[in-house]
Amino acid sequence: MSGYEARCPSCGAAVVFTLGATLLKVCEHCGVAVARKGANLASYGRVAELIPTPSVLALGAHGGYEGAPAFTLVGRLQLDYGAGTWDEWLMAFGGDSWAWLSEAQGRFHYMGLAALPPSPEFEDVRVGQTLDLGPPGTFVVTEVREARFMTAAGELPFDVEPGSLLRYADLSGPGGQLATLDYGTGSTAEALYVGRQVTLDELGLSGLPDEEDRRKKAGGQNLSCPQCGGPLEIRAPDQTQRVACPYCGSLLDATKDLAVLEALSRVPEKPRIPLGSKGRLHGGEWTVIGFLERSVTFEGVRYPWQEYLLYEARHGFRWLVEAKGHWSFVEPISAGDVQRSGVDRMKHGDQIFRHFQGGAAKVDVVLGEFYWAVARGDEVSSQDYVCPPLMLSSEGDEQEINWSLGTYTPPAEVWKAFNLVGGPPSPEGVAPHQPSPYAGKVRQIWSLAALAAAILVFVYLGLALSGGRVIHKQSVAVPAGVPPAAPEAALFTDRFFVQEQGNVEVTIKAPVSNSWLYLDGALINEETGAVDDFDLEVSYYFGSDSDGAWSEGATEARSYIASVAPGRYVLRLGPQWEAGKPPPAYDLRVRSRVPRLYQLVLALVGLFVWPVVVGWRSMRFESRRWSESDHASSGSGGDDDDEDDDGGDDD
Ligand SMILES: [Zn+2]
Ligand SMILES: [Zn+2]
Repeated sequence: MSGYEARCPSCGAAVVFTLGATLLKVCEHCGVAVARKGANLASYGRVAELIPTPSVLALGAHGGYEGAPAFTLVGRLQLDYGAGTWDEWLMAFGGDSWAWLSEAQGRFHYMGLAALPPSPEFEDVRVGQTLDLGPPGTFVVTEVREARFMTAAGELPFDVEPGSLLRYADLSGPGGQLATLDYGTGSTAEALYVGRQVTLDELGLSGLPDEEDRRKKAGGQNLSCPQCGGPLEIRAPDQTQRVACPYCGSLLDATKDLAVLEALSRVPEKPRIPLGSKGRLHGGEWTVIGFLERSVTFEGVRYPWQEYLLYEARHGFRWLVEAKGHWSFVEPISAGDVQRSGVDRMKHGDQIFRHFQGGAAKVDVVLGEFYWAVARGDEVSSQDYVCPPLMLSSEGDEQEINWSLGTYTPPAEVWKAFNLVGGPPSPEGVAPHQPSPYAGKVRQIWSLAALAAAILVFVYLGLALSGGRVIHKQSVAVPAGVPPAAPEAALFTDRFFVQEQGNVEVTIKAPVSNSWLYLDGALINEETGAVDDFDLEVSYYFGSDSDGAWSEGATEARSYIASVAPGRYVLRLGPQWEAGKPPPAYDLRVRSRVPRLYQLVLALVGLFVWPVVVGWRSMRFESRRWSESDHASSGSGGDDDDEDDDGGDDD
């Protein structure tokens, strides 16, 4: 790269602008920021010393993306957003082409210049707002801030006085894309950068300072708390910004030689999972490096929960969250992958999440190390959306929003993963994203019951059509000349055989006409002498009155004897009749194993008891879940809580 060369207005040394786009260069000899103003140079005075950050990069390092021209790091910009510092490295691709490589807490983002679409003024940009950036797509604003231009080294593609406040909005787009709208020091967007997170391996960087030297410089292992002298082990030295001493609770600034930010001397509470514990969970080997207790307060009642910060060099950070004995494994997700999907609904991937609750979450207890500038009393507004076993959460304020995805994790799994002693405390109530033990079962059980019901009805219809088996038929004369109900009127039928265990139906048909016939019957097993009594009555009356003709009763009647054993039988039939009107004879028919409708109905009712019970339990589980939400039903939710807790633990 050959560039424009001039003399430093301060020390007279040669100043080379290697990149055509460079407008500001820090003189290597005297440390003065030299700005290119047309053909002239202006001096902004000496820039501040670089802030020691645990950066892995260095000016002059070069690399090459696959399919992209080789690049050299020619500039370094340090910015401070109020609670921390980050580095922006200028990548020069030869000629006039360049891009930014931003480095913060061990994460790298490649950000290339893109065509600037019509954009809102800085004052009008809001976190959570979606913007159409043209060809890159629709992005959501995740951060709106002013950051101070602290210091620089090498070349920069803008002419801004060190110490100025620079304004920007960060956005998240589809497929992990990131974007920054650069407002410079004004209100109008000046540039758009679009890119994504990259790894140093991808960038093929070489000429970097030795990894071990850097780690030593960044913190090393044998530190002690300046407040209480307790030994501190920093487990993610590249990324840690804050350390809360596990012995005295004091909050230390890991970026400034453990300067004491807040001195405490009380022994902090012991987390259930000790700091430094290692565990294998959800595909990673995690180390617990930090612990927070946070809470929301509703109507004067504080609802606390605990969060464990997990770290693994390869995967970065995750969270393990405990609320009332329920556990979740939480990972950060890109805001650009979350879309609104109707009122109180959010979409992530293929899943639709329902809004559960929102609140102001406050940090109450801090222990261990953190990759951001955490402090007690920090407050963010949070919103939770559920799709069991997942929970989608947003946390943010007016300047920044972050999304995460939690997976409900059974307590026993956590205990096993971290090899914790004793058993986990039993969870209270139903967690917002706790999978229902009835989920999917209700429909399945109903389908099974419906299938079984269909089979039953089919079998019944088949049996009913075949109509049982006629085992005896006889025409029985009514003895004339004896008084009704006289014992001598009784007679025995011919014998018949019941071949299979089952019910027996006895039907009589008598030509009664404005009279009745009653039979006092008994089914007698000739082999065992067992007797089953039954009775039968036919009565049929008709006539006419002012309303016309009428009739009542029937000339046929039947009676059933349940569960008759196979064997040889006779019937004893004692007739009674309306005085003076004995029918001459009646027809008798006996059938075996006759299907009864009531049996079908009972079977169907029995069949649906289980699905109804499961459906009801499922509804009760869901009502317990939602009773803790912002959407608890106003009708019964509140008052029934006590009742819901009774006997609710029947699983
Ligand atoms: Zn100089
Ligand atoms: Zn301490």
